Amino acid sequence: MPDASSLPGGRASTRLDVAIVGGGLAGLYAIHRLRGMGLHVRAFEAGSDVGGTWFWNRYPGARCDVESLEYSYAFSDELQQEWKWPERYGTQPEILRYINHVADRFDLRRDVQLDTRVMSAVFDGKANAWTLTTDKGDVVRARFCVMAAGNLSTPRVPDFKGIGDFKGKWYHSGLWPHDGVDFSGLRVAVIGTGSSGVQMIPIIARQAKHLHVFQRTANFSLPARNAPMDPDRERRHKADYPARRRAAFDTPFAIAGYPKPTKSALQASPEERRAAYEAKWQEGGSISFLYAYTDLLVNKEANDTAAEFVRDKIRGIVKDPKTAELLAPKDHPIGTKRLCLDTGYYETYNRDNVTLVDVRSDPIQEITATGLRTASGADYALDAIVFATGFDAMTGALREIDIRTTDGASLADKWAGGPLTYLGLMVSGFPNMFIITGPGSPGVKTQMIASIEQHTDWIANCVAHMRRRDLDRIEPTPEAEAAWVQHVNAVADSTLYPLANSWYLGANIPGKPRVFMPYVGGFDAYKRRCDAVAANGYEGFEFSRQPATVA
Ligand code: FAD
Ligand code: NAP
Repeated sequence: MPDASSLPGGRASTRLDVAIVGGGLAGLYAIHRLRGMGLHVRAFEAGSDVGGTWFWNRYPGARCDVESLEYSYAFSDELQQEWKWPERYGTQPEILRYINHVADRFDLRRDVQLDTRVMSAVFDGKANAWTLTTDKGDVVRARFCVMAAGNLSTPRVPDFKGIGDFKGKWYHSGLWPHDGVDFSGLRVAVIGTGSSGVQMIPIIARQAKHLHVFQRTANFSLPARNAPMDPDRERRHKADYPARRRAAFDTPFAIAGYPKPTKSALQASPEERRAAYEAKWQEGGSISFLYAYTDLLVNKEANDTAAEFVRDKIRGIVKDPKTAELLAPKDHPIGTKRLCLDTGYYETYNRDNVTLVDVRSDPIQEITATGLRTASGADYALDAIVFATGFDAMTGALREIDIRTTDGASLADKWAGGPLTYLGLMVSGFPNMFIITGPGSPGVKTQMIASIEQHTDWIANCVAHMRRRDLDRIEPTPEAEAAWVQHVNAVADSTLYPLANSWYLGANIPGKPRVFMPYVGGFDAYKRRCDAVAANGYEGFEFSRQPATVA
């Protein structure tokens, strides 16, 4: 058991092998995996229960855009055999139920401290240990620290003037009230048309008296084609589960089952391309669509063929030509922002009680006591405002923790010009701190649970390696880190991704350095690289022997 002793002022001091920040899918798997090695671990979670993303994002229509048979843990075959997903894509309540089931089934809760936000993490080079402090006054000492704080866990409401004066109610998609919100009979605004907005808009439109959607950038969205789980499909999938999971390792998105594309979109005739895109449109799902040809994410001309197909679909669905044109994205290649999946999104704009407002040409100027005003002076009377305005993605959660070393280094300073990591897993100058799906990892560009498991397994194997050799400290060399950052940038620059103002490069947060953060070389290439690094004696990392002297 962790050793707890008293500090002055009645605060508890806890000694651990591994302190974990976050109780979402990553934090929970880290507990399971590291505790299974006999390590003393504890996770600290700001929320009042486990689940992370799926605990916080309870807005109407919240659901997965990766099929439920894929978006689930692979570490236990019993678990994946016994769990029954009712639909093709898991809803937020269903995924949260699954996560709670996992927490109970593997007895993980006893090592999660809820309602506790980690405020600082300081590495003491002499003691060779991390000290974490929490908003509840805990002081936690640990040899290792695992940051499982999430990429999309720091909700952001734009800094609009006057928000405090609004007499109605306002909500953010990522901080949704647990007892739900009834919009019946209300004049509602949704600000933001990313994945969250696209999922909630059709449902809110059915409740509200009138819905105004404030769109700054039109996003590409494809039909999800959600449906009840097909029992035959489930049976076939489960019969072959371990092999399917292994096959996913050899794909860029960590999702198996889609035939690998073999040719450029430009090698196909217009009729052939149209038929291929139509088949993908009917099948539903975003990965499949982007995987139709080899070059949709690297060649603008090829991408244009897919983008124009979707724009035509939008023009075909939305009856008012002006609204259709506003909804048809033209400022970024398809797939370079997260491609949305929807159920009846474009059709919603054919309703009489829905109005699309273009806040690119006429930006929101302020929130007033009675609604919202745009720069042109147009006033919108509102009873409720929903901010589907996203997150300080990828670095937000770590930036909110004061991470430093007793030598005076701080992560905030080190990352002032953009995040620097080796493999997305560690930061030079910050020993014994691992990050799960951090910047420089492919995490957010994959079925994330696969990345979470792969990262955590790599970390666990690394710690086991250190234990076998009596090694106490690990950190990447500055050279290995610099080379990885350069590689991440070079790969991104060889694709179309940097052409979009997305959260992948921090464009949604005013003042954030514009640096492309995820590794887009593919999960398959990344995993091979991590495996090779480990096989070569953890190439690019430095180890030392210095037992922790935690008091
Ligand atoms: P999170 O689930 O974000 O958990 C991190 C936890 O850390 C949070 O609970 C947070 O409260 C806690 N935390 C952060 N900082 C602190 C601190 N200082 N102290 C204590 N606790 C802290 N991915 C997919 O692959 N497919 C999808 O379809 C998909 N859909 C998504 C839908 C939505 C609405 C969102 C927001 C994300 C979606 N994602 C999806 C990404 C999703 O975040 C991941 O799949 C996955 O849930 C991440 O798990 P995690 O544990 O790494 O992070
Ligand atoms: P998002 O993709 O960042 O979208 C935020 C939206 O708010 C954008 O349309 C943005 O416009 C708009 N916005 C931000 N500030 C604004 C301002 N000041 N004025 C007007 N509009 C403003 O956030 P999200 O929709 O919450 O999604 C974040 C990520 O979470 C997704 O990319 C995805 O990875 C994940 N997610 C997945 C699902 C799913 O389907 N499974 C659902 C939800 C979320 P601009 O584009 O112009 O910045």
